[in-house]
Amino acid sequence: MSKKITLLGSTGSIGTQSLDVIRAQGYEVFGLSAHSHVDKILQQIQEFHPKYVCMTDPAAAEKLDAALAGRADAPYLLTGPEGLKELAALEGPDVVLNSVVGIAGLGASLCAIESGHDLALANKESLVTGGHLVTRAVEKHGVKLLPVDSEHSAIFQCLQDKESAKSLTKILLTASGGPFFGMKTEELRGKTKADALRHPNWNMGAKITIDSATLMNKGLELIEAVWLFGLPPEKIQIVVQRQSIVHSAVQYSDNSVIAQLGVPDMRIPIQYALTYPERVPGVVPELDFAALKMLTFDVADEETFRCLAACKKAIKKGGLGPCAANGANEEAVKLFLEDKIGFLDIGRLVEAVVDSDSFGGDYTLSDVYECDRMARAFVQAHR
Ligand code: NDP
Ligand code: MG
Repeated sequence: MSKKITLLGSTGSIGTQSLDVIRAQGYEVFGLSAHSHVDKILQQIQEFHPKYVCMTDPAAAEKLDAALAGRADAPYLLTGPEGLKELAALEGPDVVLNSVVGIAGLGASLCAIESGHDLALANKESLVTGGHLVTRAVEKHGVKLLPVDSEHSAIFQCLQDKESAKSLTKILLTASGGPFFGMKTEELRGKTKADALRHPNWNMGAKITIDSATLMNKGLELIEAVWLFGLPPEKIQIVVQRQSIVHSAVQYSDNSVIAQLGVPDMRIPIQYALTYPERVPGVVPELDFAALKMLTFDVADEETFRCLAACKKAIKKGGLGPCAANGANEEAVKLFLEDKIGFLDIGRLVEAVVDSDSFGGDYTLSDVYECDRMARAFVQAHR
């Protein structure tokens, strides 16, 4: 069945892989958004002919506007964070896929849901920073929240037997362990941006690649899983699976474990979110068990990887704790990528923010943004 998609963050790693899926399935693109990559979005406009495009960075929007001048097929152009929210809310698509990076995606997720759209969510920061608001809005507007993150898609797939799902007792959230698996604090001290950007199994955007090296990504995913599947953090066990073949698993009350496996290619979970509940042939090759030979399992080392410990503390504190951890991490990763702080400073700063307040209680959207600002300022003051 043909579908119309609005794809936010189309120039990124998930964005371009989503367009592979859209191309292969012959879906229609209703809207696209990008932040800074004018040439890339121009190519996408040429191929997919969206009706609307949002360029969030104002300088890039001006360039794009100039490049599109006089073209008969030019889409309607929106700009800035407000434009992104407007695009997410527009009537027309069957589903909005949010693959923006960072808390910058939260407003658009909420607008899509509040406008009655099903939301395929790669932007885990939406749930981490505003989990209460997102899940409440999903309930209120009766829309589907379809996980794109590979682990959460795996869990979602393992929970499709609705009868069994009632007796879910545990989630086994798998982690690759990142490029620094097995290393202790002293070995991590001198790690550079180039070292941290070398992920063993996945080719992703810079921010999530650093998050994978610090294990912040697994901490964010633990919080994401709490919101998506309603289990407390104690019932979500992190298991290192170095080959990234087992994408996660669930355990039921009889201790039976059901896992989802596949080659490490994000186009499987992206496609499942877009075709759910159907399964159709796609672009990803089958898993070759003869070549694979073995799967290994290990424990995650949160003594060394403090971001993971900090995220666990943050979700236990509740309220804005996860938002503070996320804001501190976004700021610290930015500084690390600019060579302004060391690798270990990321974990130190995220943990310090989480330890700095009790964070409990309900919150509004403006509280989320205020907490994010506070966490970033804390990082700048303590770097
Ligand atoms: P990328 O950095 O590759 O892409 C991010 C996208 O968001 C780009 O289109 C970028 O535009 C846009 N963008 C950047 N800043 C802003 C902003 N301030 N406002 C609006 N849009 C912005 O990231 P990934 O694709 O790797 O990740 C996207 C999301 O998916 C993240 O939340 C990540 O955690 C999650 N995810 C990613 C996976 C992966 O394999 N990459 C796996 C699982 C989850 P431009 O490029 O034009 O500047
Ligand atoms: Mg993931």
